[in-house]
Amino acid sequence: MDYNTQIVVIGGGASGMAAAAAAAEAGAEVVVVEANAAVGGNGLFPRGIFGVDSVIQRRKLVFADADEIFKSCMEYSHWKIDGRLIRALIDKSGDTISWLAGKGVDFTDVVHHIPNQTPEVFHITDAAENVGMAVIKALRAYCAEKGVTILTGTRGKKLLLDEHGAVRGVLCEDKQGGSVTVTAEKAIVCTGGFAGNPELVAKFYPTYNPAVVSVGGGMRHQGDGVLMATEAGADIEGNFAMEMAAPKLKGNYAGLNLLIGKPYHIWVNRFGRRFADEGIVYNFAQAANACMRQPDGAVWVLFDQSGFDRTLADGRDIIELIHIAPDAEERLAQTIGKAQEDGVLKVSGSLEELAKFIGCEAAELEESVSEYNACCDQHWDRLFAKQGRYLTRLDQPPYYALRAGTDMLITHGGIRVNEQFEALDSQFATVPNLYVAGVDFGGADADVYNVTMSGHGFGFAVNSGRIAGEHAAQAVTAE
Ligand SMILES: Cc1cc2nc3c(=O)[nH]c(=O)nc-3n(C[C@H](O)[C@H](O)[C@H](O)COP(=O)(O)OP(=O)(O)OC[C@H]3O[C@@H](n4cnc5c(N)ncnc54)[C@H](O)[C@@H]3O)c2cc1C
Repeated sequence: MDYNTQIVVIGGGASGMAAAAAAAEAGAEVVVVEANAAVGGNGLFPRGIFGVDSVIQRRKLVFADADEIFKSCMEYSHWKIDGRLIRALIDKSGDTISWLAGKGVDFTDVVHHIPNQTPEVFHITDAAENVGMAVIKALRAYCAEKGVTILTGTRGKKLLLDEHGAVRGVLCEDKQGGSVTVTAEKAIVCTGGFAGNPELVAKFYPTYNPAVVSVGGGMRHQGDGVLMATEAGADIEGNFAMEMAAPKLKGNYAGLNLLIGKPYHIWVNRFGRRFADEGIVYNFAQAANACMRQPDGAVWVLFDQSGFDRTLADGRDIIELIHIAPDAEERLAQTIGKAQEDGVLKVSGSLEELAKFIGCEAAELEESVSEYNACCDQHWDRLFAKQGRYLTRLDQPPYYALRAGTDMLITHGGIRVNEQFEALDSQFATVPNLYVAGVDFGGADADVYNVTMSGHGFGFAVNSGRIAGEHAAQAVTAE
């Protein structure tokens, strides 16, 4: 079946659902094509969403200064990113919290995501339903109410162009291989990046070595949006950031995630050598950089019985509360048994045994631990300057070693856009009728995903979609 509409949104994830809702709200007729059997994409996973000067912050007396946040974001990336885009996304973000709340998202708090983070920008919902699911559910319901047509199982393959090179819709394929044509006045590409496309990953992240990424999280999209948009004349912006996290466990060992994320443990590589300030664990992107540098990207997280006991006695921190399954502690004993069987965890009274598990020389591991213990005694990490508060000796057996790796979440970067999220060509002119939102556009992250802008991956996706949807709707309803 073919469709004719005012706006077609290609990809029904975080940015696409926001674009569709915003466009429909502004009075436009909208069709969403979604490759999967259901909408949501990686937008189903986020635990927090970035927002500046939201009503939740104001109520909590968190005064988030947009200028300061803007400056820190630009400095983080050494101004490799686009100031106008960042300004537009930050400025919209507080209002978007109210916009989502108005559609049924029950924000319960705004919290810090790294220790002592000021101001707090990470907006959360009740832990039982993460913010991503709540947002997608609310936007899906709103789109239904507004009469948006959502075609699931329908993959956009090629943008339709008229004789002047203006976009006029999209040619899609349904699950049975049949073709579906959606002609439209405007198209908004929101296909969620290219983490599942090895050729694009190799092209845009030349220093990234997939062989050392041991854990896979999220949905790996194919880069269809970036490919379709470039084919239609849009340009690649040129800066990319891979969102990665470490140390992470391969497999489902929920309770162990409580233990792996502590700054007072130590990390060693396959030579048994310590390599980083483990306090960087709270900045998952920096931690991923440090872990990925290690031979084979393999790292082991070590702690002793006192570290184990302290973790459980302290209880969950604010981030673990929202990120780790509620019954993780209850299942811990069972999880530990399984992890040992699976070769993910070794528990032993001797460091020599742990060295065997790691595959390193016992002397090397013993040297690393004694060097670390000496730093603890001096209250000074002379190697990596880890904070004194995190320096606790490793000397109370049994010892634990968890085999961990790096998780690749999502790509950020792609098509060059202006601050209305219209696609631009190599001459910085707009490609007529084409918008790009979510992680398919470039210019918001460069090199390393900026964890200090907590929740901005999801936040920038929703805000870029919303801005694109509003702008496209304004154009079609004015025409
Ligand atoms: C495990 C995990 C946890 C995360 N947690 C957080 C967090 O706490 N906070 C945060 O800020 N960010 C988080 N993120 C990142 C956040 O989820 C993404 O930045 C955001 O979802 C990107 O939105 P998007 O619209 O670009 O892509 P998506 O939300 O993935 O949507 C893309 C959609 O396009 C569809 N699609 C792809 N190709 C086609 C095609 N050819 N035709 C039609 N449809 C197509 C896909 O099926 C998908 O539904 C997390 C990501 C992961 C993987």
